[in-house]
Amino acid sequence: MMFNSLIIIDNENIMDSIDLIDVANQLAGTQQSVVSGLGINLVNKDLKGFDSLICVDLPDIQLKDSRVLTDIIQQVQQTYDFDSVIVLATDFGRMVAPRVAMRLEVGLVADITAIDSNEKERRLIRPAFSGNMLASIVCESTPIMASVHPNVFHFNGTKEPKVSDFVINELKPSSIEVLAVAQETGSHDIREADVIVAAGAGYQADVTDLKEIAHKLKGAVAVSKPLVEQNRASREIQVGQSGKTVSPHLYIALGIYGSMQHVEGLKNVKDIISVNTDEGAPMNYLANLVVIGDAIEFINKLTARLQ
Ligand SMILES: Cc1cc2nc3c(=O)[nH]c(=O)nc-3n(C[C@H](O)[C@H](O)[C@H](O)COP(=O)(O)OP(=O)(O)OC[C@H]3O[C@@H](n4cnc5c(N)ncnc54)[C@H](O)[C@@H]3O)c2cc1C
Repeated sequence: MMFNSLIIIDNENIMDSIDLIDVANQLAGTQQSVVSGLGINLVNKDLKGFDSLICVDLPDIQLKDSRVLTDIIQQVQQTYDFDSVIVLATDFGRMVAPRVAMRLEVGLVADITAIDSNEKERRLIRPAFSGNMLASIVCESTPIMASVHPNVFHFNGTKEPKVSDFVINELKPSSIEVLAVAQETGSHDIREADVIVAAGAGYQADVTDLKEIAHKLKGAVAVSKPLVEQNRASREIQVGQSGKTVSPHLYIALGIYGSMQHVEGLKNVKDIISVNTDEGAPMNYLANLVVIGDAIEFINKLTARLQ
């Protein structure tokens, strides 16, 4: 028996999309796993690891429209009847996944962190109750629809995919209209940073002040969720369950308590420095180096040292 999965390839996160093959294989359990990737406007069609690539060409701007992408996934699913549809939980993926689940009339298991499949059942595991518990969700029917954070699963494969083109039936017109084009500000993607200077609610100064020290350390600035909620920083740089998953060599946590939801965004971090006024903060137990004291004072002293 075969278990056929469809992975929606995110053109801006190709390697993370390939990692989802591990999710598909684990979902297959004791069945033979067959994994297809849906690539829209894929430049490189030599993505090793997939059994097949289903390629669609579209005007680029339409790709930014989650409704258009939903229509395409629905058409592909209607044609191939996959047993699972897996989406990367990026900001855009999070807009697409619930729409697709609605169209396919299935539930969505969002942000899964582990899978337990055997011949009797498939269990998808995800954080629940604000991350204080892990929920194990038994999926009895197909297609199983799941979203997965980047960097949670990993896959390395050498299989050459069979590439085929998929012709889309007429799509509803996109609701996106280009009004103006602006240059990107060039902010560093925290997922690629080797060093991260991260501010939490205990860091009471302007977050943009940290750019200078981050720049000196050849790194990026990130934040915990409260700073985004207080409009002190963009969601683009939030680390954690509802933000991004990061894997730097060095993570400097300034006034970050270390809640489960925050720590969930730290994967394969080599060294953590935690600066906190409270010795008992959970982040301190994860850190290799703990500084008990005020975060701003620490930054001022570190800046002076680096100069
Ligand atoms: C569904 C859900 C999803 C969530 N997703 C995320 C997520 O993606 N990312 C995330 O971060 N959170 C997330 N959260 C929120 C999370 O539960 C915590 O509330 C949040 O991480 C706390 O942020 P914090 O540690 O910065 O703030 P706090 O919990 O307020 O901790 C502040 C810390 O700073 C210390 N401190 C205070 N003053 C100073 C000082 N002067 N110098 C140094 N240290 C000081 C304190 O001792 C404390 O440890 C989520 C919650 C839910 C329910």
